[in-house]
Amino acid sequence: MTALAFVVICACVLFATRGFAWGAQGDVLAVRFGADRDRTRVVIDLDKSTQGRVINAGDGGRITLALAGVAPGRGLNGGGSGLVRAYQVTAVGGASRVELELARDSQIERRFLLPPGDGVAHYRYVVDLKANGGAVGPAAPRVSPTPAPRRAEKPLVVIDAGHGGRDPGASGAKVSESEVTLAAALTLKAELERTGRYRVLLTRETNTYVDLYRRVAIARRADADLFISLHADAGTDPAVRGASVYTLSEQGAGRAVREFTRSDNWHRELHLPGRDPSVDRILLDMTQRATQNRSAQFARVLLTHLEASDHPLLRRSHRDAGLAVLLAPDVPAVLLEMGFITNPEDERLLTDERARRRLMRSVADGIDRYFREPAAALVTASTDGPAGQP
Ligand SMILES: [Zn+2]
Repeated sequence: MTALAFVVICACVLFATRGFAWGAQGDVLAVRFGADRDRTRVVIDLDKSTQGRVINAGDGGRITLALAGVAPGRGLNGGGSGLVRAYQVTAVGGASRVELELARDSQIERRFLLPPGDGVAHYRYVVDLKANGGAVGPAAPRVSPTPAPRRAEKPLVVIDAGHGGRDPGASGAKVSESEVTLAAALTLKAELERTGRYRVLLTRETNTYVDLYRRVAIARRADADLFISLHADAGTDPAVRGASVYTLSEQGAGRAVREFTRSDNWHRELHLPGRDPSVDRILLDMTQRATQNRSAQFARVLLTHLEASDHPLLRRSHRDAGLAVLLAPDVPAVLLEMGFITNPEDERLLTDERARRRLMRSVADGIDRYFREPAAALVTASTDGPAGQP
């Protein structure tokens, strides 16, 4: 996509969302709460990006934040949940002032901005509150009977073993690509499941042929949080070796949008409003941009872990490509070329069980790191200061 097209899209979004269903509330769409005994998550849904600032960190039983550049329209107010008794959003200059009336003495644990992505078409400013130690009433047990807030479900990782069946992929001296990708996928599945932190789905578990678009559809239908496609490279020069990671190119992204908008109910599949096709199209582009950012973020983390494990890498190891398996616009996706099957040393690394486990363990570590720090990595984009400091 050209820079000009990007500017045009941004202008349209500003314009289109004004008179759209969300317009009545200005830029602040909603304030939501999730709570247990000692922690409360406040999610402020926004239709544009913002930079948050803490004005009052808890004095007088209140936490007050300013969100720059977002107008609250008529404003919002209502009852809270957990550590928040009530909330109010009002306009202050060009900003929104968010006031949280506390039910108990609490502090901000962390706050961050989430751009559109993972199936959500708008921005979210998240504030996590934690109750301060001095418990009210009789001494509370140190271990709360209620577990800390958690995602309802573990993240779902879809592992795609490249090729298979009538499509063996590239051939090495001893094995075909489809064999090493399946072995690697099964090993990675075992490594991820061993942590107890993920659900894992394979696009194929045997030597069968699966269409490229079907592989993407499997990930989308399952509402995957991450898609990783495993392949092995091939070259005419047997000396060339090393792994590389691909993410979707701009050109590929354009193709993905075209492919996707061919179906009649694509807006519903992406949880978009579906009232105005041109607005949905813009939101799709924005969702996809966020997905591309997340994919690039995972690609970087993955390469760092491969490098740390001394796995040989190609010189320019992060590449862009319009590869069909990376086309899901709402699932972060990378394609890992694990090495050159045409290089004897790489072929050995891909067929030796211990070497394979070592490689897949570093991939699993990369996945772990990606999911452990998604918010932290995204905060850098909003240049927010640490909690409690203006
Ligand atoms: Zn391949």
